[in-house]
Order: sequence, then C-alpha cells, then structure tokens
Amino acid sequence: MLFGPPGAGKGTQAHLLTGELQVPHISSGDLFRHNLKEKTPLGLRASEYMSQGLLVPDEVTIDIILDKVLSLESEQGFILDGFPRNQHQGEVLEEALEIRSRPLDKVVYIDVPEPELIRRLGGRYICRECQAPHTVEPGAAAGNCQRCGKQLYQRDDDRPEAVRKRIEVYRSETLPMLDFYRQRGLLAEVDGVDTVNAVYIGVLRALGWVSKSSDRE
Ligand code: AMP
Repeated sequence: MLFGPPGAGKGTQAHLLTGELQVPHISSGDLFRHNLKEKTPLGLRASEYMSQGLLVPDEVTIDIILDKVLSLESEQGFILDGFPRNQHQGEVLEEALEIRSRPLDKVVYIDVPEPELIRRLGGRYICRECQAPHTVEPGAAAGNCQRCGKQLYQRDDDRPEAVRKRIEVYRSETLPMLDFYRQRGLLAEVDGVDTVNAVYIGVLRALGWVSKSSDRE
C-alpha cells in the first residue's frame, strides 16, 4: 500500500510499480473519477465530497474498494493507493485481508512537506484518459498528455480552497493511520521530495527489492 498526503506522488509511483510487477493498481480516487466521467450515481455522489476536498463517506467507499480487492485471486498481489484514509477503513481492510489469508506486505509512506504539496497540486494537470499527472507552470497552456496524447485538465479538488481542505482532512483523519501501521511493523518511509526516479528507487528499497548498492542508480 502506498500511503501519503495528496500530491505526494502515490499515483505516479503506483503506476511504475504496477508496470514492473504486472499487478493491479487499485486507486480509490481513480475509481471515483472514472465513475464521475461515466456519470454513474456513485460518481455523482462522490463528486459532491471530492470537489470540496472532503472524504467520500465510508459506506460508499469501503464497498467499492473491498469488492475490487476481494475479486482478486488470493495469491495475486495488488498495489493499493488512496485507501485506507481513516482508522475505520484501515480496520475493515485488515479484516477483509484476513479472510483472504493475504495481509498487506508493506505500507510505504511517501513523505512530502506541506508547502511542497501546495506548490505541486496548484500546477497539477491530469490526463482525462489515462490519469497521468503533469506539471504546468503558472500561465502556461496545459497541452496534451505526454503518455497517451489525450487532453489534460485540472481537477476540481486541485483548486486552492479544496487543496487546503484536503491537507487538513489528511492531517486529522489519515495521518494518524501511520501509527496503526507502525504498530503492526508494516511501515517503511521514503523521502518524496526528489525526482520521480529517485523516489521510485526509495520505494523499491522500502519494499526490500533493491539494496543500497543497486545498479538502478
Ligand atoms: P485521490 O485521487 O486519492 O487524491 O482522491 C481524490 C478524492 O477522492 C479525495 O479527495 C476524496 O474526496 C476521495 N477519496 C479517495 N479515496 C478515498 C477514501 N479512501 N476515502 C474517502 N474518500 C476518498
């Protein structure tokens, strides 16, 4: 599981990891955005909360994520990104994974200080098609996705008021989960203020898949 504040780069790192491991990437935010794009009742309900920077209620969120996780074969791995975001979600996930006899291997915490998060989210544009994040300098045109060529857009919840709220919600509801996973011996920390590639090496190290002297560097 990738853990960290909004804008830490969880989605980017999850994309790299799932490409390398060929396992599914389960992202609650992507699932909600996909539903919103398709204008499903779930997407429309979730967007009321997302646009304000609030968490979508647990009774909506938990079922859609657990359905995904429990639909996988028990020996199949997966990368979770954006879930759990509060203690209740964490406890329910733990119970569900016990039933599946396959607990989380690791929780990788990507740490980025708040001023850097605010800077990053303010210039973040997302691909409508593949969700790849891009950075656009103030005043510059957004352009097209460098991964798939489709149109980029700014998420409603990357506007300044929503960003402030998301960081506040992260601090009060999600950050305390660090202790939950620390107590379980699952937590590994990575400094998220570096190039995408350097952070990726940190993530692989946190997972125990590259040693300090790896030739990846
Ligand atoms: P993300 O793309 O992970 O930043 O998520 C975008 C938005 O989706 C969040 O700001 C929340 O409104 C909602 N969301 C994503 N994951 C969760 C979750 N685990 N619990 C509640 N709301 C969530």
